[in-house]
Amino acid sequence: MRVVVCGGGVIGAATAYYLVKAGATPTVIERSGVACGASGKSGGFLALDWCDGSALEPLARRSFALHGQLAAAMPDRWGYRPVTTLHLHHDAGRSGASHRPTGLPDWLSPATIPSQRLGTPETTAAIDPAAFTRGLLEAAIAAGGSLLEATVGDLVRSSDGRVTGVVADDETIPADAVVIAMGPWSNLLNALELPRVHALEGTSLVFQLQDGPTEPVAFFVDYQGVDGTRDSPEVVARADGTVYVSGLSAQPPLPADPAAVSPVPATTDRLLAMVEAFAPGLGRSPILARQACFRPVLRDGLPLIGPIPGAPGAFVATGHSVWGMLNAPATGELVADLVQGHSPGIDPAPFAVDRRGLG
Ligand SMILES: Cc1cc2nc3c(=O)[nH]c(=O)nc-3n(C[C@H](O)[C@H](O)[C@H](O)COP(=O)(O)OP(=O)(O)OC[C@H]3O[C@@H](n4cnc5c(N)ncnc54)[C@H](O)[C@@H]3O)c2cc1C
Repeated sequence: MRVVVCGGGVIGAATAYYLVKAGATPTVIERSGVACGASGKSGGFLALDWCDGSALEPLARRSFALHGQLAAAMPDRWGYRPVTTLHLHHDAGRSGASHRPTGLPDWLSPATIPSQRLGTPETTAAIDPAAFTRGLLEAAIAAGGSLLEATVGDLVRSSDGRVTGVVADDETIPADAVVIAMGPWSNLLNALELPRVHALEGTSLVFQLQDGPTEPVAFFVDYQGVDGTRDSPEVVARADGTVYVSGLSAQPPLPADPAAVSPVPATTDRLLAMVEAFAPGLGRSPILARQACFRPVLRDGLPLIGPIPGAPGAFVATGHSVWGMLNAPATGELVADLVQGHSPGIDPAPFAVDRRGLG
C-alpha cells in the first residue's frame, strides 16, 4: 500500500515508521526540512501519567511505553533518558538561601527553591526532539519508506471523490492513502474541510554546558520577577550536555512558510533575563539556539486523528499541542492501523475529525 504522509514533523515521522512496520510503503513529503518546526524546537519532555483523567490518557500511556521500547531498539540515537522532574520557585525580588539544596545542578541560583516533586525516573523522561524525529524517519526510510523534499499544494481526487494522491511542486504523487500531518499548517490544503487548527508560538533557548551533561532533571519553574510579573519557564537538561529552556507563549500570525518562523529578539532577551536570574550559571553558558516555533492546537485541546469525512482515502494527524513529542509513537501506530483498516489498539473516537465542539 502506497501512503503519502504530508509533513516531516514528529507526527509524520512516527506515522511513516509505524506504516512501514505494518508493511505499507510511506513517502513523507516535507517542505522546509525534517523537524524544522516544533518537532525540532520543543522540550522533548515525556510523562507517563500527566494526561491521566483526560481523553489523552490511553494515547499518552501507550506512547510513554513505546518511547522506552524505541530507545531500547535504537540506543543512543536521540538521548532518551529518564529524569527526575521538580517544580521550582524563584522570586527575583527576594534573596534566597545562601546554600543550594543538595542534588540540584550548580547552575541554579540558591534562591531557586524546589517546592514539589512532579515526576520520577519511572514516570518522566527526556529526548532530543529533532534527533528523535530524524531517527524515526531514517528508520522508516531504511525499511523501505522514502522522503521527498517538496511543498504539498493540493490533493488529487478520482471522479467519485476518492483521494488518490497529492500534487507537490507541480508533480503528481499517486497514493492509496494520504495522511495530513502538517502541524499548524494542516489547514492550508483548501480542498479539505478540516476544523480550524490554531497555532500557538513558544520561544526557547538552548545552552551548552561547559562541564558536560548535568544530572538527568527537568524543571517547571514558577518565576516571579522583581516587578511582580509571573512566568513559568520549563527546563530540560539533556544527555548531550545541552539545557533547553522555553516559555513566553504568544499567538502572532502563523507565517505561511515554515522556514520563515523566527524568534522575536525582545522575547528571547526576556527569556534570557529570566534564566540569568533563576539559573545564573546557565545564563552565562554559550547559547546554541534562540528559536521560536508554533504548536498545533484544536479548540478542545485534543488532537485530530483519523479519516477525513467527505474525502475517502484521506486521513489527518495533528493538533497535539504541548504533548506532540510524547504522543507521537501511539499516534503513528493508531494512524497506521486506521489507514490499513486494522482494528486499532486505542479508541480513536475522542480524536475524530467530526467530533462535537470543534466549531
Ligand atoms: C515551545 C514548545 C515546547 C514543547 N515542548 C514539548 C515537550 O516537552 N513535550 C511534548 O510532548 N511536546 C512538546 N511540544 C509540542 C510538540 O512540539 C508538538 O506537538 C509537535 O512537535 C507537533 O508535531 P507535528 O509533526 O504535528 O508538527 P510540526 O513539527 O510543525 O511539523 C509539521 C511539518 O509539516 C511541514 N509542512 C507544512 N506545510 C507543508 C506543505 N505544504 N508541504 C509539505 N510539508 C509541509 C512543516 O515544514 C513541518 O516540518 C512543545 C511545543 C512547543 C511550541
